[in-house]
Amino acid sequence: MDTETEGKAAAVEEMREWCVALPKVELHAHLNGSVRNSTLLELAKHLGDKGVIVFEDVKDVIMKSDRSLPECFKLFDLFHILTTDHDTVTRIAKEVVEDFAAENVVYLEIRTTPKNNEAKGMTKRSYMDAVIKGLKAVEDVDVELFGSNFRTNETLSSKLLDGVTKKKKIYVRLLLSIDRRETTSAALDTVNLAVEMMDQGVIGIDLSGNPVVGECICNVLCRETYLPALQHAKNMGIPVTIHCGEVANRKEIQAVLDFCPQRLGHVCCLNDVEWKKLKSLMIPVEICLTSNVMTGGAPSLELHHFADLYNAKHPLSLCTDDSGLFSTSLSNEYYLVATTFGLSKFELFQLAQDAVQFVFADDVVKKSLKEVFKHAEKRLLMWDELAAPS
Ligand SMILES: [Zn+2]
Repeated sequence: MDTETEGKAAAVEEMREWCVALPKVELHAHLNGSVRNSTLLELAKHLGDKGVIVFEDVKDVIMKSDRSLPECFKLFDLFHILTTDHDTVTRIAKEVVEDFAAENVVYLEIRTTPKNNEAKGMTKRSYMDAVIKGLKAVEDVDVELFGSNFRTNETLSSKLLDGVTKKKKIYVRLLLSIDRRETTSAALDTVNLAVEMMDQGVIGIDLSGNPVVGECICNVLCRETYLPALQHAKNMGIPVTIHCGEVANRKEIQAVLDFCPQRLGHVCCLNDVEWKKLKSLMIPVEICLTSNVMTGGAPSLELHHFADLYNAKHPLSLCTDDSGLFSTSLSNEYYLVATTFGLSKFELFQLAQDAVQFVFADDVVKKSLKEVFKHAEKRLLMWDELAAPS
């Protein structure tokens, strides 16, 4: 390796390290799509041994890091089978929080679709209880799951504040996802469950699911299906985020913009009129670069609509969507923004810090997060000065 190549490799390494060290806020992460490959492999092997799936059919897809879209859907099917078991849900939830914390994510909103499965004795409530059990089982990191005046781990937290045993701290909140394929009554059940679990870390509602389902002929029907549930959430004062424009479904995009949720995910396939409307409404956007490129929502990283929104100073936040499925991390998404669009470390820091404004948690949490960034600022921007050629 010549000196120039060595220098470039060192700069890449240094930038990657900086992006990991940057405190980050993750607002769009699906529980199932964020499973570790090693866990996925182990669980798939186990299911294979029990004859539930053919392990050889999924083994190679799990081991791959650059999966095609059909391969991703193959894994989605596997996630669906895995998450019908309470213990597996608990394990996945625990590991996902550990993995995000390891990337210096300081605030994490995890979204998941609560499932009913009579054969397995699973209800939407027991599914969510299994998720929360997983979050509480995290030991390496101090997980702040509840509101500021509902903390079970008060003694430990006080001790941590004293700096006696300083552990990393991560705020975790849950969003309950409504699947586009669900019936109105099932969607309403999910909103009511969110209301019931507001004091246990649940903080909002998401609308997601295969964007192609319901396209064309049952377009109107689908909107009629989930809109009453979203309206119910709005009436109950529960914040809503919606997957919007993953495909060019004009009627749905229009309905979503008219609904005006607190946040939107993706916004890939908007036409000029919709784009203008989004910008005038100033709805914060959850940007998922890798996911959009891999699923074809954006033609390439370079042509991703991040640049347009960023230059327009539209509120946005970088997110992973499905870090396991798309083999990415939130640190990597910041790195991609730096290398693709030329953002400086100062600009990346601002981008990460601005995301605090769009969290669904209350002002107490926002204040604490602002403190985290304030503390990190000096260290990270000094790092910048040291790294920059004078
Ligand atoms: Zn998503």
